[in-house]
Amino acid sequence: MASETAERFQALMLSREGEATQVALVSLGEDDLMEGDVVVDVSHSSMNYKDALALTGAAPVVRRFPMIPGIDLAGRVRASRHPDFKAGDAVVLNGYGLGETHYGGYAARARVKGDWLVPLENITPFEAMALGTAGYTAMLCVMALERHLVRQTEGQVLVTGAAGGVGSVAVALLAELGYRVVASTGRLEEADYLKSLGAEEVIDRRELSEPATRPLGKERWCGAIDTVGSHTLANVLAQTRYGGCVAACGLAQGSDLPVTVMPFILRSVTLAGVDSVQAPMALRREAWLRLDQLIDRAKLRAMTRTVRLADVPALAPDFLAGRVRGRIVVEIG
Ligand code: NDP
Repeated sequence: MASETAERFQALMLSREGEATQVALVSLGEDDLMEGDVVVDVSHSSMNYKDALALTGAAPVVRRFPMIPGIDLAGRVRASRHPDFKAGDAVVLNGYGLGETHYGGYAARARVKGDWLVPLENITPFEAMALGTAGYTAMLCVMALERHLVRQTEGQVLVTGAAGGVGSVAVALLAELGYRVVASTGRLEEADYLKSLGAEEVIDRRELSEPATRPLGKERWCGAIDTVGSHTLANVLAQTRYGGCVAACGLAQGSDLPVTVMPFILRSVTLAGVDSVQAPMALRREAWLRLDQLIDRAKLRAMTRTVRLADVPALAPDFLAGRVRGRIVVEIG
C-alpha cells in the first residue's frame, strides 16, 4: 500500500499571486490530496465555462488556494472506505465544490467523499465527461421543463447559447424527446451543426440580446432553456407563451435580469432556476440515468473534442470569448 500511495501523478495547480491566478502542471503524491473516503483514478475530466472562469481568475470560482481546478471528473475507484463503492467501480462526480473548495478533476487521482459519487453503469467515463457538468445541467433543465408540463405538442422550445456545451446537449436531448427545438446562437455558421443535433430552426441571438422595449412580446415559445441570462433571459420570458416555463441555468451574457413581472402575472410563465452544484443525490442519479437513456452517442461524439491536461490553460480564454463549440473532454489517466 505504501508504494502505491507513494506513486506520483500529474495535476494542474492554481495559485494566487496578488490579483493574478497562476496555473502550473505539477507532480503530486496521494498524501498531497484532501480528505475523503474514496480514492479515484481519474481517466477523464472536461472543460466547462466555470472552469474557464477558475483558470483565468475572471470570477471568484476558486474559494481556496492552492487548488486543483476541474469541476467534474470520471474514472474508476482505486480504494474505498465507503460502503457503496469498491475498487474498480466506474464513477462520475461534479459539483459539491469540486475544483472550488475541494481538489478537482484536473489530476490523475482524486480523494473525495463517497457521498458525492454517482455510479456509472452503461455510460463510459469518456462519455460521462463528454456530457460533463454541461450535459448533466442540460438534463436538469429538460427535467425542469417536464416538471412544469411543457409538452411536445404545444409549440417550439428555445435553447439559448445553443452552440455551447449546455446548449448543444440541450438541443440533442430535447430533439430526442420529440420537442420542436429552436436554437439561438451568435454563430450562424454553426447552423448545420445545430440542425445535425436536432434543431428545426436556428435564429441569430441578436434577436434576443438587446434591451427589451416592451414588457411583453409576441408569444413564441412554449418553453425555453436559457444559458445566457441578462437581456436574453428577459426577452425570452417576455416571449414565452401563456403557462410556459423557462429553465435558467447560465450567465454567459450577464448575471443581471432586467425583467418586469408581466410575464409572470399576465401569462402565468414560470421561471425555473437550475443549479447543478448542490442538486440532491436523487435528482443527480435520475439525471444520469435519463442521459444514458436519451443521449444519441453519435451526436455526443460529434459535439465533443478531446484535449490533454497540458492544453487546458490555453483553451480557457476561448471559452470566455464564446469560441468553443460543444464539449471538450480532458484526457487525464
Ligand atoms: P459555453 O461557453 O460552452 O457556452 C456558452 C454559450 O453562450 C456560448 O457558446 C455562446 O453560444 C453563448 N454566449 C457566450 N457569450 C455570450 C454573450 N455575451 N451573449 C449571448 N450569448 C453568449 O458554456 P457552458 O455551456 O459550459 O455553460 C453555459 C452557461 O451555463 C454558463 O454561464 C455557465 O456558467 C452556466 N452553467 C451553470 C450551471 C448551473 O449549475 N447552474 C452548470 C453548468 C453551466 P452561441 O455562440 O451559440 O451564441
